[in-house]
Amino acid sequence: MKSSQTWFAEAKKLIPGGVNSPVRACLNVGCDPLFIASAKGGHITTVDGAEMVDFVESWGPMLLGHAHPEVTRAIVEAAPLGTSYGAPCPAEVELARMIVDAFPAMEMVRMVNSGTEATMSALRLARGVTGRDKVIKFIGCYHGHADPFLASAGSGVATLSIPGTPGVPECTVQDTLLAPYNELEGVEELFGKYAGEIAAVIVEPAAGNMGLVPPAEGFLEGLRRLCTANGSLLIFDEVITGFRAAYGGMQTRCGIEPDLTTLGKIIGGGLPVGAYGGKAEYMRRISPSGDVYQAGTLSGNPLAMAAGLATLSLLKKSDYAALEARVERFSRDLEDIFREKGVAVKIHRLASMFTIFFTDGEIKNFADVKKCDAEAYAAFFRKMRENGIFIAPSAFETAMVSFAHTEEDFARTLEAARRSL
Ligand SMILES: *Cc1c(COP(=O)(O)O)cnc(C)c1O
Repeated sequence: MKSSQTWFAEAKKLIPGGVNSPVRACLNVGCDPLFIASAKGGHITTVDGAEMVDFVESWGPMLLGHAHPEVTRAIVEAAPLGTSYGAPCPAEVELARMIVDAFPAMEMVRMVNSGTEATMSALRLARGVTGRDKVIKFIGCYHGHADPFLASAGSGVATLSIPGTPGVPECTVQDTLLAPYNELEGVEELFGKYAGEIAAVIVEPAAGNMGLVPPAEGFLEGLRRLCTANGSLLIFDEVITGFRAAYGGMQTRCGIEPDLTTLGKIIGGGLPVGAYGGKAEYMRRISPSGDVYQAGTLSGNPLAMAAGLATLSLLKKSDYAALEARVERFSRDLEDIFREKGVAVKIHRLASMFTIFFTDGEIKNFADVKKCDAEAYAAFFRKMRENGIFIAPSAFETAMVSFAHTEEDFARTLEAARRSL
């Protein structure tokens, strides 16, 4: 088989940067990407034959682990029945039912094909409903690559040090207002300055794209209060946290009801899916029941719906608390190793997610995150990869653990960390 090196050389001639999404190129960690031949459970195998413990998990979708037999079977059984109809099919209704049942604040839901589509459509709906244009977004939160959200540094953009990006016209971001995460003062100030103009506040209820930064005490409650008081819609971007922070997402875990929710990643079981939903009175404004246009040739794709249904059915029966306890223990053991080696880190954890920040300071927003030692992380990444462990190729990301990761995988990871520091 051709090596990763050979594939990457070919890829760079055909695909910009050799990759179809920037962070995969490993530029932030100073090495070339490895090409994947296959993945199973908590492991990926490269074309070079290295089997590694995987904490990227496709950036979140694979909460059940790779190639879960029941998810694979659902896809295999659905494929011969046709891979796209451009007309409704039962699986769309069944998946919508599962999502609505899991998220009390979602009475109706619309399927799309990615998280990016979900957030841009939710923003359009919020603007349509309120008749206002402005949106408040938090610095360091990532909501996909639609123009209005590229007003500041997101995950990929931030780590590549590109301020915004060329190609986004000023007019498409002039209504995007930025505030630091976990601070209500900035939001209050914006609501005061732009009274009656703000359509929505969009937030990752636990930030996962600047590393894992959980919400501070009272932050989400404050956003809920401010949105209600100002007639603005609160959008929870749960593309990562949906079905991961808890089966019913971060909103169920913290008991706060947003007006709109965006989902992606897990709900497609590894196939391309996104969704947005919320109160029926808002969702009925979407075409064709309402006047806010949004469409998609492949939306509600039968293969993606089958994979999503199989995934959610399995997750519904899964013991989230047990996984959380295991990840807590494992990440504490990891922390001990850093301490033994005299390397200052701060580990944030929530459910099956964690981030190792190379700092001895507190992390509550993107300004804090930027103070971390990205070079030290890059060196750690390279050593861990040599030692058979695949962690995110960027200091500002979240490690994802799946139900398929075994205690043996954890032990192997701890041993690799010992050798890597
Ligand atoms: C991944 C992500 C998105 C974008 O989803 P894509 O499927 O990559 O378009 C949006 N919001 C959050 C919080 C994400 O983590």
